[in-house]
Amino acid sequence: DDTLPQIPLHGANIPDQKEIEKEIGEYLSKKYGGKVQIISSDVLTSPERKGARENRLLGGEQTGFHFDMKPEELIAYLDDYVIQQDEAKAVLATKICTHFNRIHQEEKGNHTQPAAGRIKSNVLLIGPTGVGKTFLIKLIAGYLGVPFVKGDATKFSETGYVGGDVEDLVRDLVRAADGDIKKAEYGIIYVDEVDKIAASPHRHGADVSRSGVQRAFLKPMEETEVEMKVPHDPISQMEAIEQYRATGKKAQKKVNTRNILFIMSGAFSGLEETIAKRIQQRSIGFEQDVASPRRDHDLFRNVKSSDLLEYGFESEFVGRLPVVAVLNELTEDDFFDILISPNSSVVVSKKQDFNAYSIKLQFEESALREIAVRAVAEGIGARGLVSIVEEVLLHYEKKLPSTSIRHLVLTREMVRDPRGELQRLLNDKKKQKEQRKLYSTLLKEERKRFISFIEAKQKYYFEKSSLVLNRKRSRLIATICQEEISDPRKVCLDIIERIEHIQQYAEAMTEEYGVEVSFSVAAVDRIIMEKPLSMETVDSRCEKIMSACEYGLRLISQKNWADKLEITEEGVDSPSDFMTKFINKLFKFD
Ligand code: ADP
Repeated sequence: DDTLPQIPLHGANIPDQKEIEKEIGEYLSKKYGGKVQIISSDVLTSPERKGARENRLLGGEQTGFHFDMKPEELIAYLDDYVIQQDEAKAVLATKICTHFNRIHQEEKGNHTQPAAGRIKSNVLLIGPTGVGKTFLIKLIAGYLGVPFVKGDATKFSETGYVGGDVEDLVRDLVRAADGDIKKAEYGIIYVDEVDKIAASPHRHGADVSRSGVQRAFLKPMEETEVEMKVPHDPISQMEAIEQYRATGKKAQKKVNTRNILFIMSGAFSGLEETIAKRIQQRSIGFEQDVASPRRDHDLFRNVKSSDLLEYGFESEFVGRLPVVAVLNELTEDDFFDILISPNSSVVVSKKQDFNAYSIKLQFEESALREIAVRAVAEGIGARGLVSIVEEVLLHYEKKLPSTSIRHLVLTREMVRDPRGELQRLLNDKKKQKEQRKLYSTLLKEERKRFISFIEAKQKYYFEKSSLVLNRKRSRLIATICQEEISDPRKVCLDIIERIEHIQQYAEAMTEEYGVEVSFSVAAVDRIIMEKPLSMETVDSRCEKIMSACEYGLRLISQKNWADKLEITEEGVDSPSDFMTKFINKLFKFD
């Protein structure tokens, strides 16, 4: 039946979002004058929606589940953001694509196997802290447009109460899917620190309960129905009402975990000894020549189910993790590469923070190197990068906004002695001038780096859309990246979208007049480079061209004078003249 849970409403109607915003807005303007404004959550989420075309997994309610991605596409995407970890990228991208492809086939009715015999490609990720485990999974979930939650294995207990119940993860997934249970059923659950629920003999503590937690995961990892209870807290109850109001249907109450992918991860320290022991045992009797892997990750690559059993996992648990991927420890060079990458979230977000105070920020390479060296010493992987950068820049972030300094270059000296260098900078006008000079030098260097990054990595996206990435385009992308402190991939996709949009105008004209209209590459470049750079500019330019060409095209088509028209740069600059010339030329030869 369609009854809703009983909720005490205190008689009043619940205002909708608009009304609430209005009320809060009025309150804020009373208190702060026009200085504070409320921005609707719709507005805030819209940049995310820009990426909506990437959410190709669930093509809306009518079309159902759709998936056609190839592993290499996903790998190319990961390569844009993640340094190293090639093996993990390959394994994850391949197995996750296969997982969703299989679901796609099944939903289409192509059952390759009886569902009962199906083994889900749940993954075990092995690797130390801060090497990109969570990062990879988040990127993948984001790219596929599936909901994602992260949990910590140590927070669960077998019966549900120390911290929580394993099934809570599934419910959290529904929350991550904005209450959409269908969507949650294709989600990804990531559980960190699974090595801590191994009931290892050389570990002390509640081993029984550790195995219990493993067992609690067994059913969800395979297939089970998780009840969506509506708890008594007001937020959950509001959500239930909201969903009823939005869909007019009573909430689906159960989540099936059959297609939910589980990714388990941990550092597994000590496991390498087990593996080494096994390998050595096997090698007894052979003289030499047995691979004696020196580094840990080489050992981890040899991990077998039996090693995991010995480490303290139950065979059923291991059996539900058929895919293993190992991530390497990152080196100083890797840290440096992470920092210097145009997609570096650490550097980019700091630039954005300073830009919010109209302060332009650049980093000297030697400063990044210094940060990388320190991160190695901290031993928490790339996580250390964020904390070091924050720690160093904090003083500047606090002080500079109230000075006239508008350019900052983080130098190696600043990393070594942030406070002292800040004082010297504040007291020394000459130093400030030097900084401005250094800033513009670094900006140019950065531009070069961006262009080569774009030419190396973004070509893929252009080729995929059957477009060319020429020099003008890569420069344009670099310019936008620098000016808007934005990530090359996003800018690149934006530009592709604009180019495709221009082509749609040509297609529309072709259809309308029966004359094959196209834009030359140079003409397209002219349009996308017009300022202000935006889709609106593209639209208004194309509209102008279209209306200027309308009469001529109709004439050409009626009189059958030509079957093709290529709009050139001139056609973009002065479409009427271009059209007149084109027609005159036809006459001459006729
Ligand atoms: P963990 O392996 O412990 O899950 P994370 O994936 O959470 O570590 O890494 C923390 C942060 O460090 C990430 O959000 C990302 O910004 C950065 N990072 C980690 N590894 C890499 C990598 N291989 N390439 C680029 N950035 C990375």
